[in-house]
Amino acid sequence: MTIRLAIAGAAGRMGRTLIAAAKNQNDLTVVGGSEAPDGLARSGELGLTLSEDAGTAASEADVWIDFTSPLVTLSALDALTLTPVRAAIIGTTGFGAEEEEAIAKHAERIAIVKAGNFSLGVNLMNALIEQAAQRLGADWDIEIHEAHHRHKADAPSGTALMMGDAAASGRGSPLADLRLPPADGKTGPRKSGGIGFSVTRAGGIVGDHTAAFASDAEVLSISHRALDRSIFARGALEAARWAVERPPGLYSMRDVLSL
Ligand code: NAD
Repeated sequence: MTIRLAIAGAAGRMGRTLIAAAKNQNDLTVVGGSEAPDGLARSGELGLTLSEDAGTAASEADVWIDFTSPLVTLSALDALTLTPVRAAIIGTTGFGAEEEEAIAKHAERIAIVKAGNFSLGVNLMNALIEQAAQRLGADWDIEIHEAHHRHKADAPSGTALMMGDAAASGRGSPLADLRLPPADGKTGPRKSGGIGFSVTRAGGIVGDHTAAFASDAEVLSISHRALDRSIFARGALEAARWAVERPPGLYSMRDVLSL
């Protein structure tokens, strides 16, 4: 069976990477793409009919792959109800709590795989972070640092938040209870057992992430560096193959990879 894909934000950094990655796969075909009015002119260059309307872009698709921005993704999910799409792969980051709830509601109707990072390495790293946080007590501070290119719109990155969730889960609490406020100004001493985040935005960095576990006597660091966006595209295509066979539900990349 050939799986028909529609790509949201097809002319964007991830959109273009997804189209290129899908071209080499015999079991996948890209049948449509969406773009903002400014991006529609790139249709010829991408070899794909683009539409401003997500419903039109997905009118012949089995799977919707969306790496855009929160409002664009949510409005597309609404439009998908009138299409044959039975699974959505969401890589967009920066959703608020209410937006996360809206996505969970859509997952009652179609299979949704949502991940702040689709790479195999990061998802394996998160399993290791959860284990480390479980073994190392609250006297080990946890600090998550991430660095990305200057164009990135949200901070901390979706990946850093996934790492924070994994660490918090290892400690048996929700991240919201352990998350420290950003360090700025007269901070006073660090609260014991908290999970801190620090962020760098510079140049063309594709994505660097480190979770540091620091006691008074030693530091354990677990790091990942993305060298190329194709790692996210490969993971998203793998998620598309997996999700198209699944019942409605909200899944993560750790489900896809059985981690
Ligand atoms: P980008 O800005 O290069 O691409 C977004 C594209 O969406 C643009 O081409 C833009 O024109 C298009 N767009 C804007 N409004 C639209 C609309 N109404 N309809 C259709 N398309 C529209 O951004 P990017 O670097 O590709 O990243 C996109 C998102 O993916 C971000 O949230 C980023 O954090 C996330 N991301 C996630 C992962 C992951 O593994 N989960 C990896 C990389 C990036």
